[in-house]
Amino acid sequence: ESDRNMNIIVCVKQVPDTERIEIDSVTNTLKREGVPSILNPYDGYALEAAAKMKDENPSTNIYVISMGPPQAEAVLRECLAMAADKAYLVTDKLFSGSDTYATSYILSKAIKQIELDEGIVFDAVFCGKQAIDGETAQVGPELAEQMNYPQITSCLEVVEKNDELQVIQEQLDCRKRMGISLPCVLTFTKPSKDPRFPTFKRKLEARKANVRHISISDIEDMNMQKIGVKGSPTRVRRCYAISKSKKTQLVECSDLDEIVDRIYSIIELASKGESNYD
Ligand code: FAD
Repeated sequence: ESDRNMNIIVCVKQVPDTERIEIDSVTNTLKREGVPSILNPYDGYALEAAAKMKDENPSTNIYVISMGPPQAEAVLRECLAMAADKAYLVTDKLFSGSDTYATSYILSKAIKQIELDEGIVFDAVFCGKQAIDGETAQVGPELAEQMNYPQITSCLEVVEKNDELQVIQEQLDCRKRMGISLPCVLTFTKPSKDPRFPTFKRKLEARKANVRHISISDIEDMNMQKIGVKGSPTRVRRCYAISKSKKTQLVECSDLDEIVDRIYSIIELASKGESNYD
């Protein structure tokens, strides 16, 4: 058993329960009114992975962070009840209109600010693979880029070993074991077991716990051009429910630039309706 002091921060998002949500066919947006909000399930898997690390190494500190309106405090309290030690809500009207890249920028700056304020360094940033309302799966990888950390996506399990993390990654037709140096970003997918239930005692404690709010004025060197509507060049052309397609294309290649070119051509063909793939 390792007793190295590990600090992990898990990014969690409050989402509408998509089992109960519809898409407005006129405006092409989600009809959110009256739909209950929940913790994004993939973020629960990420938190459970961190909790398992803490079971193995009790010197692990688990922080949770969410960017959202004040109501998002509810999911942070849920995380405190499950396994987290400290919770942060990044909230400010000036963040509205942020697309995924702006969101990842704000989260990366807030994470760095918590490091400064707490006098710690996070060994790993955990995210869900995707949020069930947007299903873009962009924020985790974008965070890795903003922070300049290595990343592994679609993780099922993670263990601490000799100053690195060893993960099992879910791939299309197999599972792969691999190591990653610290600090890093990991995104988590659905494992075979559900996350733990909170105990009654933890639930009571979480209700009274302090959730620190971080506003724009609490973050040093925030570039105002990179946040909110100004920092969000993404234009949403269409919003639709993903049809579960089994048609899959594997792009295998060791040259990163070539992979990007090939994926770009596939997406370009698909956007013109000239591809067999969604
Ligand atoms: P994914 O990339 O699928 O999420 C992956 C993982 O990243 C999650 O599992 C979680 O671990 C982490 N993560 C994602 N979002 C957060 C978060 N907020 N806090 C902590 N962790 C997170 N949304 C608004 O609420 N208000 C707006 O005004 C707004 N304006 C937008 C404008 C544009 C042009 C666009 C394109 C989007 C806008 N959004 C807005 C949506 C917002 O950008 C996304 O909800 C957000 O960036 C997360 O993207 P996603 O849902 O695709 O998450």
